[in-house]
Amino acid sequence: MLVVMQAHATEDQVRAVCQKIESMGYRAHALPGAQRTAIGITGNKGEVEPGTLEEMPGVQELIRVSKPYKLVSRDLKEENTIITFPGTDASIGGRGLAIIAGPCAIENREQAFTVAERVCRAGAQFFRGGAYKPRTSPYSFQGLGEEGLRIMAEIRDKFGMRIVTEAIDNESLELVEEYADVIQIGARNMQNFSLLKRAGRTRKPVLLKRGMSATVEEFLMAAEYVMSEGNYNVILCERGVRTFADHTRNTLDLSVVPAVQRLSHLPIVVDPSHGTGKRNKVTPLSRAAVAVGADGLIVEVHHQPDKALSDGMQSLYPDQFDDLMSQVRQIAPVVGRTVPAIGSHTSAPLQARSGVQSSASPLT
Ligand code: PEP
Ligand code: MN
Repeated sequence: MLVVMQAHATEDQVRAVCQKIESMGYRAHALPGAQRTAIGITGNKGEVEPGTLEEMPGVQELIRVSKPYKLVSRDLKEENTIITFPGTDASIGGRGLAIIAGPCAIENREQAFTVAERVCRAGAQFFRGGAYKPRTSPYSFQGLGEEGLRIMAEIRDKFGMRIVTEAIDNESLELVEEYADVIQIGARNMQNFSLLKRAGRTRKPVLLKRGMSATVEEFLMAAEYVMSEGNYNVILCERGVRTFADHTRNTLDLSVVPAVQRLSHLPIVVDPSHGTGKRNKVTPLSRAAVAVGADGLIVEVHHQPDKALSDGMQSLYPDQFDDLMSQVRQIAPVVGRTVPAIGSHTSAPLQARSGVQSSASPLT
């Protein structure tokens, strides 16, 4: 059930409706849009009994939602969600493309700083790097843990890039949420419901990667888990799915971008690195991702891919990342998007803990 408020409804009226919903034993999620605020109702076992909701001041109409997801849906919020990062001009979901780049894993300080300097200069507003790595083999490098997070916090202070890093379980999430600006939930955890709920209780945006065999509905339901706990700042990420094809590591499903955009107001970025697994395919697929309308790219870059402790085969050399950026800069305007100029974004140093604002912030 959705409660659509009138365009001129006051904040007090929205609050009163939310209180009423909560007093009925449900949870209220008010998402303000450009025209009006809609309030999603969750926590109901069966049909919501509307009671006197419809009669309350400021209420325009009640809408039954037939889809299994509610909060991620465009029915709740027509406009795209834009996630902004105070102290920077970076955002995800707006006209400007979000460029997230860095190594698969933080291996040591020197490696991380070398790559950070190059991707920052090329125009990336976000630095990625794993401190906790979900590896297929228990004998492979598992990440530096908190030491890796500390290195990334230093990189934020020095270069002004915001930090995207993965939490692999509830325990690592405790630390990741302290250091990161965006918490990544990996493909292997897309249906780890307890982790999704825990991520829904943080105040940091969540970058949710599509599971290797997830349908669009399963993908959106995973985002719904995060939102249902009150965190409305979710960024979806297509990273390839498992198919019969063996010329790539995964098959990058670019058609999911317009499919998601039709159904949901959430931003969606594309990861051509895991999506192909092959360095020589990362730039062509990045061009295609921008052309298809993705809100950004997340790309693995390493200055010595041959020596990388993970995902070297798909990591671009910094010079190749420069080329990727210059190609993307030419394509972006064709689809009405902008790309940060070389070395253009603010490098205002921030504290280790950072804030976030979003067009999807709740009113209550
Ligand atoms: C990663 O981003 O390095 C990663 C492990 O991604 P995925 O969960 O998409 O495999
Ligand atoms: Mn990787």
